[in-house]
Parts: sequence; C-alpha cells; structure tokens
Amino acid sequence: MTVDRIIHLAVGVVFFILFLRLAKTSYELKLLILGGITMAVGTWMPDWDLWLGIGYHRSPLTHSALPALLFGLLVFKIKRSPILVVGFCLGLASHLFWDIIAYGNVHWIKGGNNDRLFLFVNALLLIIAAVMMHYKYLISSSFQRSG
Ligand SMILES: [Zn+2]
Repeated sequence: MTVDRIIHLAVGVVFFILFLRLAKTSYELKLLILGGITMAVGTWMPDWDLWLGIGYHRSPLTHSALPALLFGLLVFKIKRSPILVVGFCLGLASHLFWDIIAYGNVHWIKGGNNDRLFLFVNALLLIIAAVMMHYKYLISSSFQRSG
C-alpha cells in the first residue's frame, strides 16, 4: 500500500464519519461495515486507470461521477442497499476532493483551473447522490418499520 493510497483512504474515512455525523442516523453495524468497505473501494477505484499506464492516469472516466453511476446500477441490480452506494459515492468524492488539493490535473482537460472545476463539480454531484441515497434508505427503512 503506497502513501498516496493511505492518504486517500484516510480522507475517505473523514468524509464517511462527517457524513454519518451530519446525517444523524444510525445504520445497523452490518450496514456500516458494508458502507465502510465500499467507501474504501471508492477511494481507490479512480486510480485503477494506472493499470493502463501512467499516460492514462487521472482520466476523466475514472476521476468523475461515472464510476459511481455504474457501481450504483450494478448494486441495485443485485441488492437494494443504499448504504453501499452512499459509501462508494463518499469514497469517490473524497478521492476527487483530495486530487483537487494535491494535484489538480485531469487527463484530456486543458488548464489547471478547468481540471479543478471538473473534479469539484463531480465531487459535489457525488455528495448530492450520497445524500439522496441516504434519504432513500431512511424512507425504505421507515416503510419496513411501519409495514
Ligand atoms: Zn486520483
């Protein structure tokens, strides 16, 4: 595990804890662990473009909301657990957020500020998606309680 990987994971943990604090909702422990795992995957996933070579690194395909969309579609096909998507979105958002601060460069996008704006908008979309998924969880779990 590289230092970069550890930093991304640590920022993801901070995002996840802050989110849960602000959301003021307690998930079951099992769900929290699952969400923590998908959060960790979310912090790591954007750098999978390194497997294609350094020339592809920080590609807008992996450093955007796109992986979360694919992950969300996959998860909802298999298992309707919003927390899995919440965790992934927050992990991915934290990665993009940290890339704004630490690097700022996105492959194919010209101009440092355009890169940062791209990362920022995508991180924001991911946080909005996490909030929406979280409320979806609240609604579905209150339905389970009442029905
Ligand atoms: Zn990155």
